[in-house]
Formats: sequence, C-alpha cells, structure tokens
Amino acid sequence: MSINPEVPATFRPLIKQARDVAAQVLRPNSRKYDLAEHEYPVELDMLAAVVDGPNDGGTGGAGAAGVRREKGGSVKNRNGTNLSTVLSILEVAWGDVALVLSMPRQGLGNAAIASVATDEQLARFGRTWAAMAITEPGCGSDSAAIRTTAVRDGDDYVLNGEKIYVTAGQRADAVVVWATLDRAQGRAAIKSFVVEKGTPGMEVERVERKLGIRASDTASIRFTDCRVPAANLLGSAEIEAERGFAGAMQTFDNTRPLVAAMALGVSRAALDETRALLGRAGVEIDYDRPALSQPAAAATFLQLEADWESAYLTTLEAAWLADNGRPNSLQASMAKAKAGRSATAITLRCVQLAGATGYGERELLEKWARDAKILDIFEGTQQIQQLIVARRLLGKSSTELK
Ligand SMILES: Cc1cc2nc3c(=O)[nH]c(=O)nc-3n(C[C@H](O)[C@H](O)[C@H](O)COP(=O)(O)OP(=O)(O)OC[C@H]3O[C@@H](n4cnc5c(N)ncnc54)[C@H](O)[C@@H]3O)c2cc1C
Repeated sequence: MSINPEVPATFRPLIKQARDVAAQVLRPNSRKYDLAEHEYPVELDMLAAVVDGPNDGGTGGAGAAGVRREKGGSVKNRNGTNLSTVLSILEVAWGDVALVLSMPRQGLGNAAIASVATDEQLARFGRTWAAMAITEPGCGSDSAAIRTTAVRDGDDYVLNGEKIYVTAGQRADAVVVWATLDRAQGRAAIKSFVVEKGTPGMEVERVERKLGIRASDTASIRFTDCRVPAANLLGSAEIEAERGFAGAMQTFDNTRPLVAAMALGVSRAALDETRALLGRAGVEIDYDRPALSQPAAAATFLQLEADWESAYLTTLEAAWLADNGRPNSLQASMAKAKAGRSATAITLRCVQLAGATGYGERELLEKWARDAKILDIFEGTQQIQQLIVARRLLGKSSTELK
C-alpha cells in the first residue's frame, strides 16, 4: 500500500466548494478584519452550515472537526477525513487563514474532541465550537509543565488555573482545557476537559493585539473553582503511567497536519499573487526550463514553488498515515516544521519579489507575511518540531534529548 499524491476524485467537489468559499467570502473580507481587530466576522456564521454538512456526512470537511483516527491498520489504501480535511483547509486558508481560525465549530478544540473523545462525547460535543487551551503563563513549549489543576469532587471536576493565548477563546462555545489530575504523577496525569462558555468560574480576562491573524481572537482565560461534569473529561480518566503523555499528545498527531495545511494555503496565496504580479511586470516563469537559465526573479520563484511542493507532499503523507491507522507523530511534526518554516520564508520572499507593491497595504502580500508567522509557532514551535523529529529518528526519549 502506498500513497498516491493525486487528489482523489471523490474529494474534488469538496475542495472546489472550499475554494469557492475562500474566493467569494473569505478573501473579500480579508483586509476588513485585519484592520478591524477584535470585531466579530459576522460573514462566517452562514459558512458554518456549509462546513457542517460534509463533516456530518463523514467525508471530512473544510474544518478541523472532521479528523478522527481510523482504528488499526487497513490493508486497503484509504483516503479518509484527515486527508480531505487537510486538502480543504489548504483551500480555505488560501482565502484567509485568520478567518479560518474564527470559523464556528471548526476550532482546534474540535480537532482535539474528534481525536480523543469517546463516541458518546463526540455525539454530545460534535456540534460545539471549541477552542483549545494548553498554554499558561509558565508553560508553552513544555506542555508537561502544566499547572492548571482538576480535582475530582463528587460528579464534577473543579478546575483552577490560568490559560493564555487561546485562539477563539472568547468567541467559541467551549474551551478544551488541559489540566493535571495530580502534578506528582507527571505527564500521564494531564487530561483534557470540555468547559462550556458561561460555566461559573471561567472568565475571559483579555484579548491580545497581534502581529498577524488579527481576525482571530486570542484570549486569556482564568479558571477559579470552575466546576465541570466528570463526563466532560475527554477519553479515559485513568492515569496510565506507561502511556505517559500519549493520550493528550495524540491530539497533536491530528492537529499538526491541519496547521501545516493552513501554512500551505497562505503560502499558495502569496505564490499565486506574486506570479500574477511578475507576469504583469513582464517576467515569464517557465516551469519546463532549468531555473538558472531564467531571469533571477523567475528562478527565485521556481525555488519557492519547489519548497512549497515538498511541504505539500510531507503534509499529505502525515494525513494519509492517520487515515490508514498508522503512527504518524514523526510525519506530523515533519509536516508542521516544513510547512511552517516554508510559509514564513515564502510569504516574506514574495514581499521582496514584489518590491514596494509587496510591502504596501493595497495588496495582501504584507498581510500574508504577518499571518504566516504564527503557523511556525502554535501547536509546537519550529524548534520543538525539530526536537521531536530528532528524538524519533535517533530513538531518544524526552529526558535524553531536550
Ligand atoms: C496568536 C497565538 C495563538 C495561540 N493559540 C493557542 C491556542 O489556541 N492554544 C494554546 O494552548 N496555545 C496557543 N498559543 C500558544 C503557543 O502554542 C505557544 O506560544 C507556543 O507553544 C510557544 O510557547 P511559549 O510562547 O511559551 O514560548 P517558549 O516555550 O517559552 O519558547 C520560546 C522560544 O524558545 C524555543 N524553545 C523552547 N524550548 C526549546 C527547546 N527545548 N529547544 C530549542 N528551542 C526551544 C521556542 O521554539 C521559542 O522560539 C498561541 C500563541 C499565539 C502567539
């Protein structure tokens, strides 16, 4: 069984629909919400229904809620929801990645739910728009250092702690909160909890002003004696020392390819726009001739295209492995590292190739360069992805290589 890099025919209508949404709704509102930071993008409400349809049908969709891992390895090649979601997120992010991060019910918290929830929980929270809250003032890259606590009390857990930089934390209907059941038991005791908006003890303290993805709200949330039903602990409540962090970390195997897809979408947008601008300036790009026999701008552009292509193929592989029930932690980190780094490099290089036009606000190139940076930071920074890849390739544990 091997991967075929062609887009499967069954996904084409979905991908076309995602591109139409990107071109007709997201792109035309891109600058508006970049300038009006913190204003709610009302245009997105009607899109949720468009995205829900395919997700409900089990064929994946343009948002994060569709990712759920197939159990066990299959002998037959399967192109499933991870692949279709990656391909459609690429398209919508081509329209505007900040608006994609604000799309109702398609938050990274939804991917977290889809990844680790039991079937009963998936039925209960499947239509909830969920943000994901891991980061704290004293813990970012080292997510095992989480201090937010969850203490069992009767039929509830009581949460106490502070979460920062929660994407969609103000707008979403719920937040998936990572908290520890027992700090003394280390990583294995970290579990995720669905906390619904309006739960007493959960308070949004502020929203950040940012370099990029300004259409997306980024919130700080405090939890003070916040009671959530015990049934809102996602997956198993057992502290399984031998599994370590595996339960909660499983989320990343599904979400990192999605962030890589966002990076591919933003950089594809920059490449498409730059090719058009170069064409108007009389620079011909010939894909059939060696780059070095072409004008410098065309040669540079072809290198960027090659960089994009390798990030694209790596991302498809990570999603395809998940669809086929195979381990993909290594490939998910490779895809995130490659696509995140390529997106920042490509978008900035496109600004450079377009000169003053690239830097000005009349075009979106400068915005895409700002938006791309976060894709190399959240869901694990570039350096952390490289660390994970190195550990996996060298067979080292997190204590041996840090
Ligand atoms: C706009 C935005 C949205 C976000 N959305 C979310 C969200 O929805 N949910 C959420 O939980 N978090 C979110 N985050 C937080 C994000 O995931 C963290 O910022 C990220 O994980 C890095 O953590 P940190 O900022 O604490 O940096 P640190 O961990 O302090 O790292 C600082 C620098 O040191 C490097 N570094 C750290 N450790 C190592 C190491 N061992 N080896 C080499 N280099 C290392 C890092 O790569 C980084 O460059 C968001 C952040 C931003 C800016």
